[in-house]
Amino acid sequence: MEKDLWMDFQNLDLGSDQTPKILSSEAKKKGEDNHRFSSVVKALNPHHQNPAGIKLLMPNRINEDETVQFFFRHEHQLLTVLEHGPWNYRDWMVITDRWTRRHQPDYLKTITLWVQIHNIPDESREEGAIREIGDVLGHIEEVFIQQPTREQQGEVWIRVIMDAYGRLIFTRYIYFDEHEEPILIRFTYEKLRRFCTHCGSLQHDVDICDYNPLKIQPGPYDQEEEEVQAPNAEPNMEENQQAHHSLTNKNIMYLVAIQWVASIQTLTYRWSILEMSYSQALLATTAIFFHSVILHQSSISL
Ligand SMILES: [Zn+2]
Repeated sequence: MEKDLWMDFQNLDLGSDQTPKILSSEAKKKGEDNHRFSSVVKALNPHHQNPAGIKLLMPNRINEDETVQFFFRHEHQLLTVLEHGPWNYRDWMVITDRWTRRHQPDYLKTITLWVQIHNIPDESREEGAIREIGDVLGHIEEVFIQQPTREQQGEVWIRVIMDAYGRLIFTRYIYFDEHEEPILIRFTYEKLRRFCTHCGSLQHDVDICDYNPLKIQPGPYDQEEEEVQAPNAEPNMEENQQAHHSLTNKNIMYLVAIQWVASIQTLTYRWSILEMSYSQALLATTAIFFHSVILHQSSISL
């Protein structure tokens, strides 16, 4: 009992009023040297990936922020690991970064992937057009274009640094010629493993997804933004209700149009990726569309 009491006394702040001691540059350099060739790995889906499991892969340590740090003897070993990414653990992607980048604003926030772009018309298979198309995914590091030959088809690849907390997209309509119909471009990601098939997130399974395309979702860096105030904050309740109804009536057609576009994208996805027959995909998409509209209308009428 007495022993515990004296142990507790050691939590007193005696000494905190003295001048802070500055660590010598030699000591700091020694610490930097020990970490210089290390990479830091962060799990994207904590439901399926625990740091202790990642730690078992090779000698390393778990940091206070639940990241796992891997140490290498030589820089080329570290570079090889980074170059051969992206990596996954238990079939979900992880973020890998250099420890020396820890003060950069995008540290442990991005994932770099090789992406193949399909359906590019022959005459547009050139770097300028590819970079503009690839911009919809993130920051392009590299472009590889294989022009078609007699032996092989043309291929277009880009290496893209993407927001690891954003949502993947797999298609995008592009107007290559404004006088013609847009062309549906398709993206496939090399080494990509599991993701949410409803919203494209790398952070959760589809069965716990709460993404609603009718609701404006906050971006990864918008989380501290203030909520948008409803129009007409006057104290007159009747006027407020009228304004609310006219606002929702104006917006409903717009929201229905957005939902229709989302449904068409779902249709295209189910049809081509899940190998459903076209009629099955059309039936499923139409059911989802009308269900969403009915839900939306009933929420407005409340
Ligand atoms: Zn989702």
